[in-house]
Amino acid sequence: MAYLLKAGYRVLLLEKNAIAGGASTTEEAMPQQAPGFKFNLCAIDHIFIHLGPVVEELELAKYGLKYLFCDPVLFCPHPGLPVQKI
Ligand SMILES: Cc1cc2nc3c(=O)[nH]c(=O)nc-3n(C[C@H](O)[C@H](O)[C@H](O)COP(=O)(O)OP(=O)(O)OC[C@H]3O[C@@H](n4cnc5c(N)ncnc54)[C@H](O)[C@@H]3O)c2cc1C
Repeated sequence: MAYLLKAGYRVLLLEKNAIAGGASTTEEAMPQQAPGFKFNLCAIDHIFIHLGPVVEELELAKYGLKYLFCDPVLFCPHPGLPVQKI
């Protein structure tokens, strides 16, 4: 959509879910088991965005993008297993 807008097209975005973002959302998916923790449900390898020109081409920093490098990178809560940082 951003590239279409940049190319001068008029774009109408329709979203059926309450949260926009499709498969790249970050949601509090387990409010009972992990309240306050937000998860990338599908696109977990977001760091790959830096391998292409998207951030620069779309001037995302200008629009408020602040990339946070995660620590830990991965958190897989599972009943009965010890917490492990990766
Ligand atoms: C399991 C999984 C893991 C992935 N991991 C990664 C990853 O690690 N890194 C990465 O870069 N990419 C990953 N991807 C790919 C990435 O998530 C997709 O390429 C990207 O989300 C596609 O964006 P999109 O906007 O084309 O479609 P989507 O993200 O699928 O968005 C489509 C949107 O359209 C909405 N919609 C559907 N039908 C209607 C309708 N009738 N009316 C209104 N709205 C509608 C949906 O609710 C949804 O929000 C993964 C995908 C999956 C499924």
